[in-house]
Amino acid sequence: MDLETKARLIAVGTVRLEEPQQEGRASTAGPGAGGQSIFFQSGPHMVRLSVTADSPLRLESRPDEAAILQDGREVACGRLVPPLLHCPGQAYLTVSERCIYDCKFCAVPRLKGGIKSQETVIQMVEEAARTGSMQAISLTSGVEVSPQQEGEKMTAMVRELCRFGVPIGVSICPYPGVNRLLHEAGAVEVKYNLECADRELFKRVCPGMSYQEIMDALVEAVEIFGKNHVFSNIILGLGESDEVLRRTIDDLTEKGIIPVLRAVYPHPLRAGEAVMERPSAERLLDLARYLKDALEKNRLDGRAALTGCYRCTGCDLIPGRDL
Ligand code: SF4
Repeated sequence: MDLETKARLIAVGTVRLEEPQQEGRASTAGPGAGGQSIFFQSGPHMVRLSVTADSPLRLESRPDEAAILQDGREVACGRLVPPLLHCPGQAYLTVSERCIYDCKFCAVPRLKGGIKSQETVIQMVEEAARTGSMQAISLTSGVEVSPQQEGEKMTAMVRELCRFGVPIGVSICPYPGVNRLLHEAGAVEVKYNLECADRELFKRVCPGMSYQEIMDALVEAVEIFGKNHVFSNIILGLGESDEVLRRTIDDLTEKGIIPVLRAVYPHPLRAGEAVMERPSAERLLDLARYLKDALEKNRLDGRAALTGCYRCTGCDLIPGRDL
């Protein structure tokens, strides 16, 4: 699979299985939470696709490989990669599968999922470590009670998880002081999601949250965790313009923050609540190339990521890894 094919697959974002329930794994993380997905590796690229019954793409299992077909024609040939916990090679856990906020594109507040205790998290990581293929731990979380309570809970978990001897990354809703806490506990990377590049749109799709406070936490994080270790998800397809996206990419990379350009997942639980338009392959490629140039201009390197999405590469076109 070449870069253009990966972009085509991400633009669709879904795949149909021959035998439903067999190959997909449930996801508990982020906007697309609650569904099943597969990881498909072909040549140097890997892509994660959500499993749906009505996808135009179909996964075909063959004796020693797998293929993705559209209208009966092969789009890519490769193999399925089993995830460890959520994604390949990482114990990637969602601690609180619920949220007091109500971002209009995110399924987590609607799913009202469970809360993992520290004991559960450690037990899951222990099992993942026993496979011998755990290269990193990534923790993410909705907000159960308050950002402060979540941050303190995650800090305590990070402290315990350091004993596994792999890099730990944390993605939570930030608040003043959280960077120091996480860093002192032993986390090496953070991701605080700005989600929507357009500040006016942000107010509508992330009510009750402050774009500026997230940005302030990201800027401070670069001082504490260093360049190449601070990330922020920017969703593509919420109605933002490419001009605003390019300006945001420039702004973030000039500050030493690495944007994760993430195609919106129009979750059925959020139908009609916000504009959610999956970006085309051309738009994904165009913006990924712009991001690659911006990272290079600001001496940032996607390959240096130790945890999370730049290490996984399943959902996005990742500069430094895919292009
Ligand atoms: S790229 Fe990130 S969100 Fe996507 S599967 Fe990998 S770790 Fe999960």
